[in-house]
Amino acid sequence: MTPLERALRDRIQAEGPISVEAFMEACNAFYYATRDPLGARGDFTTAPEVSQMFGEMIGAALADCWRRAGSPVDASYVELGPGRGTLAADALRMLRAAGFRGEVHLVETSPVLRDRQKEAVSGAHWHDSVDDLPARPLLLVANEFFDALPIRQHVDGIERRVIGVGGGLAFDRDGEIVETSPARDGAVRSIATCLSVKGGVALIVDYGHARSAPGETLQAMRAHRYAPVLAEPGEQDLTAHVDFEALAAAAREGGAHVTPLLTQGEWLIRLGIEARAQALSRANPECAAGIETALNRLTAPDQMGHLFKVVALHSPDWPAPAGFA
Ligand code: SAH
Repeated sequence: MTPLERALRDRIQAEGPISVEAFMEACNAFYYATRDPLGARGDFTTAPEVSQMFGEMIGAALADCWRRAGSPVDASYVELGPGRGTLAADALRMLRAAGFRGEVHLVETSPVLRDRQKEAVSGAHWHDSVDDLPARPLLLVANEFFDALPIRQHVDGIERRVIGVGGGLAFDRDGEIVETSPARDGAVRSIATCLSVKGGVALIVDYGHARSAPGETLQAMRAHRYAPVLAEPGEQDLTAHVDFEALAAAAREGGAHVTPLLTQGEWLIRLGIEARAQALSRANPECAAGIETALNRLTAPDQMGHLFKVVALHSPDWPAPAGFA
């Protein structure tokens, strides 16, 4: 039995069944606080860890937006759940080259990952929550952040819960599942309010669906394989697909404009990732095969290109980022 499973079973014994939301929140808080889960030897690999081109495209899109908004000197780069800090480092290289000298604010709860981020990005400021961000124009990025925030599940209008049975944990009901995420909605509304008051743009990249629909998407990943959701609590990554329709509604409630949703592959290609790959290959011919593989992984429909989606939120007086027109 994992240490967290012991604690959850004690909690259920004392308080009664816990919601799927409370279960997911407890599991991911423990999981991320105790390890760096990324990369071949971890549990999953993200786009910025596949290639520097991903962060560079994000950085170039933010730099272009910032310039078109008049290059405000008080704008800050913000990232939610920055992992190893790889995306921040690659995006900031592009932003700095475009003249951006603003501060860097990272929202990260894991002490282990904060240490990794300190190695990758110098002089950043850390926060526990999006509610603590400075009141400034924001150039914000969130890649595979919202999928890690807790979701609620309902069956026939009744909230689904986790109970203790025999030696393990089980769900208290099955049937057609409807998922919602007050945690995501709250975070998105908070960001959108910042954007609408102080200006700025947010790029959100994640796997998920364009329209709200019933269906279970809660999943567990361990060592790059799917695993049963209730197995080994705190030792595997729990995620749920992002409902981009709900996310857009929360953003509009906060006063932000929302672009159409694009697939990651389409957006990166519109931004010119193929030309970037060619330039990198010309400069490093010995790496050409690896660059081609990475390009394919990021953009091909049967790889990350289709499942992953990109949407931008922006303040009414800032332009939409390139690629969304
Ligand atoms: N964006 C990174 C890492 C994605 S993994 C990449 O693309 O490689 C999810 C990240 O979100 C981790 O950094 C994790 O510690 C962080 N995270 C998860 N839940 C969080 C929460 N509730 N508040 C802040 N950060 C959180």
